[in-house]
Amino acid sequence: MYLGDTAWPDLEQYFQQESLALVPVGSTEQHGPHLPEATDAIIAEGFAREAARRTGYLCTPTIDIGVSPHHRQFYGTTWADAPAFRTYVESITRNLTEHGIDRVIYVNAHGGNVEHLREVGRRLRDDNELYAIEWMWDESIRERIEAAFDSPGPHGGPKETSLVWHLEPELVHTDRLEQARDGGLVEFGGDTGRVHGARTFYDSIDNTDNGVLGDQTDASAGVGAELFAAACDHLVELSEWLAARPFDALMPESHVSERS
Ligand SMILES: [Zn+2]
Repeated sequence: MYLGDTAWPDLEQYFQQESLALVPVGSTEQHGPHLPEATDAIIAEGFAREAARRTGYLCTPTIDIGVSPHHRQFYGTTWADAPAFRTYVESITRNLTEHGIDRVIYVNAHGGNVEHLREVGRRLRDDNELYAIEWMWDESIRERIEAAFDSPGPHGGPKETSLVWHLEPELVHTDRLEQARDGGLVEFGGDTGRVHGARTFYDSIDNTDNGVLGDQTDASAGVGAELFAAACDHLVELSEWLAARPFDALMPESHVSERS
């Protein structure tokens, strides 16, 4: 069920029977010369809507501007400062409890949001109000992605290109894939930009001239469809697992000395 399309009388029964919401979280930021700035929002919403369709759980509207100051040198990148983002997401999530929601999955598609969503989840849980966890599609199928691409790239690479190609094919400039590869950084690893162990870069432009990492020529809509289906299975199962947990089991343990 998609909240934004539904009239309030038709939501009453859901909130009486269920207490889980899927909240898609993306970004609006450069994804190279070949992908739209909404890439992460498209991917997050695609997963959340599909998992909601398959399970019957509620999908809220997408939070489509995230924490992306590290892409600001590229035209169009639009972001919220981290404290403002955390406050906004926390407020939206906390207010869902008014309708009886007590567990949330942030269906996230932007790495820059992770630590902030985790912090919001911790605050809400420490207040014993609601249990929120962050889920990223590519974390759920790491081995499959490694098998599919030689250089998946953490940003704007073939894995994201394939996903958008599957979900919104008209938004991918398929005639710019070689340009994307040749103007960016194909191999990005744990040692990239490190000096004596310290990570020396802050912005994506410090590593890549056109904003992307990985080999985009490996992308295809077909691989995108396979990866989407595989990761969506995990999101469906995660949703069912979370819905079945007793609320008390999701809240923090009491002090160790009080444990019986
Ligand atoms: Zn992205």
